[in-house]
Amino acid sequence: MLQINQIYINGQFVTPHGEERFDLFNPATAEPIAQVRLADEHDAISAISAAKQAFPEFSRTPKATRVIYLKRMHAAVASVEAELTAAIILEYGAPLSRAQWMAKHAASVLLDAANVLDDYAFTRRIGIAEVTLQPLGVAGLITPWNSNAGFICGKLAAALAAGCTAVIKPSEMSALQTSIVTRALHEAGLPPGVFNIVTGRGETVGAVLSTHPDIAKVSFTGSTAVGKQILRAGAETLKRITLELGGKSPVLILEDADLASAVPMAIQAGFMNSGQACIAGTRILVPAHRLAEVEALMVEAVAKVQAGDPNDPATSVGPMVSLKQWQRVQRYIHIGMEEGARLLVGGPGLPEGVTTGWFVKPTVFSRVSNQMTIAREEIFGPVLSIITYSDEEEALAIANDTAYGLQAYILSSDLPKAHALATRIEAGRVLINTLAHEPRAPFGGFKQSGIGRECGTFGLEAFLEPKSVLS
Ligand code: NAD
Repeated sequence: MLQINQIYINGQFVTPHGEERFDLFNPATAEPIAQVRLADEHDAISAISAAKQAFPEFSRTPKATRVIYLKRMHAAVASVEAELTAAIILEYGAPLSRAQWMAKHAASVLLDAANVLDDYAFTRRIGIAEVTLQPLGVAGLITPWNSNAGFICGKLAAALAAGCTAVIKPSEMSALQTSIVTRALHEAGLPPGVFNIVTGRGETVGAVLSTHPDIAKVSFTGSTAVGKQILRAGAETLKRITLELGGKSPVLILEDADLASAVPMAIQAGFMNSGQACIAGTRILVPAHRLAEVEALMVEAVAKVQAGDPNDPATSVGPMVSLKQWQRVQRYIHIGMEEGARLLVGGPGLPEGVTTGWFVKPTVFSRVSNQMTIAREEIFGPVLSIITYSDEEEALAIANDTAYGLQAYILSSDLPKAHALATRIEAGRVLINTLAHEPRAPFGGFKQSGIGRECGTFGLEAFLEPKSVLS
């Protein structure tokens, strides 16, 4: 079985001090595929020390040098796109088209950051002050398993663009992707210590990053529960903290929407990344008097959703990443049934014809109340809830009645009305009749979906601190 035995510190591939072995599985077959040797606290401290040593010189590099570095990193990651796509399918189970997008995205975020940096003015005059944006110091970057390569590259790109150095703690469940990305980034030839990659557990390596006094900034993507722990842990040293957390995004299908296109789009928003997406549109809000129409279209559209072998180009819902995640999703399907929601399509167990792997039936509940557990908690699987409303005021109230606020979707043929509603939705992003991404616009959550923003200039400034010099 493939062994991943090295981490990356101070520009070198080294054997971790940590000795724990962690199994990686193919979620489509539930078979073990590789073993990773995990870093421990000792390794995390070595990585922080390397990044600290590299900071003074790197923080003073001219902007143009960092643009060149980012472009070299982009080219290096782009050159392993095919290998990365295969690893994403094997280790994570993303369907082919999604995996291809993810691998491309991992490279493109580096180029996006180079372009943002190129256009960014670090110094500006405000009254009698010269205000300079300075890099914060060593950044600790922590990623989840649902888009590990993309988050490694995106967070690193913003940190390095700002002039910070970094220690990355990728998800321990994504070590194949991490090893490919690490090799590529090494080829880009940055000075030693500027970035360090230590795969280990959250409770060990992650905990060191969120408490160590030499870490100035933590950028974390993951669950809300862990995000809160990191915020508490970082308080002692007043770390600057960006948190990209969970969601329970509403999809508002308005009265005037063309249901024939709105329903398939709602399904795509809900089942994206096999439902394992923080931005998944999991609460579908429909006018009460159009419920029967929506239900009929929903059943028809979900019947066309292929759940199964992620290598099959026709598949749009792959397996859950782990047995634990599969069990979690099954538990929520049972809770939905017990709480009295109407199971419209899908349900517990494996999809028809599937006998192995951590697959879930694409599932839609109807007649869900917004107070039910399945409407309140993030399930992180292909399980959607249809909730009815009587008028737009009620739709808005339901949309905002959640602890989360990451993203919302409005499907309508009346654009001015949709835009007016968007201003009243409590979410970091509102998508009107689209599922597109805009990498230059800020991304992040209101309320318990997070703190701070990533992407574009806002993402760059999350690694900077303003200094005013008055004369
Ligand atoms: P998770 O919170 O379990 O783990 C995320 C990372 O944090 C992992 O690398 C893990 O090892 C580490 N970690 C765990 N405990 C830690 C601790 N005590 N201190 C420091 N680090 C620790 O999340 P996950 O299961 O990997 O990912 C799924 C979650 O991520 C979902 O809730 C999803 O909504 C969220 N997510 C959010 C976004 C966003 O941009 N808002 C994007 C993707 C995923």
